[in-house]
Amino acid sequence: MRKSVVAIVGKPNVGKSTIFNRLAGERISIVEDIPGVTRDRIYTGTEWLNTKFNVIDTGGIEIGDEPLLVQMRQQAEIAIDEADVIIFMVNGKEGITAADEEVSRMLFKSNKPVVLAVNKIDNPEMREKIYEYYSLGFGEPFPISGTHGLGLGDLLDEVIKHFPEREVEDIDEDIIRFSLIGRPNVGKSSLVNAILGEERVIVSDIAGTTRDAIDTPFKREDNEFIIIDTAGMRKRGKVYEKTEKYSVLRALRAIERSDVVLVVLDAESGIIEQDKKIAGYAHEAGKAVVVVVNKWDTVEKDDKTMAKFEEKVRGEFQFLDYAPIIFLSALTKKRTHTLLPRILEASENHSKRVQTNILNDVIMDSLALNPTPSIKGRKLKILYATQVAVKPPTFVVFVNEPELMHFSYKRFLENRLREAFGFEGTPIKIYARQRK
Ligand code: GDP
Ligand code: GDP
Repeated sequence: MRKSVVAIVGKPNVGKSTIFNRLAGERISIVEDIPGVTRDRIYTGTEWLNTKFNVIDTGGIEIGDEPLLVQMRQQAEIAIDEADVIIFMVNGKEGITAADEEVSRMLFKSNKPVVLAVNKIDNPEMREKIYEYYSLGFGEPFPISGTHGLGLGDLLDEVIKHFPEREVEDIDEDIIRFSLIGRPNVGKSSLVNAILGEERVIVSDIAGTTRDAIDTPFKREDNEFIIIDTAGMRKRGKVYEKTEKYSVLRALRAIERSDVVLVVLDAESGIIEQDKKIAGYAHEAGKAVVVVVNKWDTVEKDDKTMAKFEEKVRGEFQFLDYAPIIFLSALTKKRTHTLLPRILEASENHSKRVQTNILNDVIMDSLALNPTPSIKGRKLKILYATQVAVKPPTFVVFVNEPELMHFSYKRFLENRLREAFGFEGTPIKIYARQRK
């Protein structure tokens, strides 16, 4: 089921990111500390009363050097386009300003539900300040305090009341959902066309589960696929579509709904910082990943070019060491036919389950090969292991003391599992847990 999306809008300094960070909670801080992966804190998952939803901090989407008012207008437009419910935030300490009125005029024109949050109401005596905000015309104002975490419950109760009713979507587990992510102009749309050009499209351009996503299902031999649209594929001509943060937002939303993510690079222009960031999102989401080096036709080649480029990709994207790399050209179609088999393979590995007894044989063999380390005279003892989840494959290893399981030993076990079971294209997770 698609999660509802909530966007927070309001002029700068009302406390949007403070609330956003509260909603993001631990999620942001537990993100692995991988070199080269920086987190743009504009989009996060959260949960209230067993309802999971996503939150966008539109304040985090800078739109070039535009004047403040233009930025605010565009952020409100993004909220209207992307969200199911909008939290309109104002600063209860300063009263209604012209900028608040400007935002409220925009929100009025949309027919999205708007919940008004009056922030910085830090103590009960300040509550009487909220009444003036009725005049904004969004009904009851909800007093909150971002810094003290007050009032959030009532606010969220109201927000989730406005979530659209969802039909239970038939998620057919056999259909492989994939998306293409990458900075603008790497060739995502061209690749989609190249892929679909070769395939029988079952139904084209049916509206996806979101208003603005186009999911295209198609079939190859016995396998069904769905391409999930990203920003590059549907250009609506809005100003904000060209901003980096917005394309990041679209990429995050596409990744979330995918089984396999194709990280598309451009051989002609090489690898830049933005590519690494985007690839980092795919990795963090725990999805299967295939790296696609597009525009291979533009490169002057000898027999070492591919190996050299591959080495460069491996060096820059160390966190994606499990991802296969494909060199192709959407333009000439060279090797585009190799893409779907790799997607299929990555997807199968992503949902692979291994038998417990075979898993434990592999673990015990590994222990014989590389005995567990001792730290300050305490030796790590591994008792047994079990797979607890798929997508991605997740293993729990029961040990005497979890602190003794160091990164390097975990890494060793991961490599052994990869050798034994062939998890190409998927991350795998290993947790050490104390046996009770
Ligand atoms: P944004 O620009 O809307 O994202 O606002 P920020 O979240 O960056 O907050 C702007 C300033 O307001 C920061 O200095 C926050 O510490 C402060 N702030 C946020 N929430 C509250 C609150 O509930 N009470 C008070 N007194 N200050 C707050
Ligand atoms: P997107 O923004 O990532 O969707 O990129 P597009 O698919 O719109 O492609 C951007 C530009 O790169 C267009 O001019 C394409 O014709 C060109 N392009 C895409 N794929 C290839 C390729 O494999 N080789 C060459 N030479 N050009 C390509």
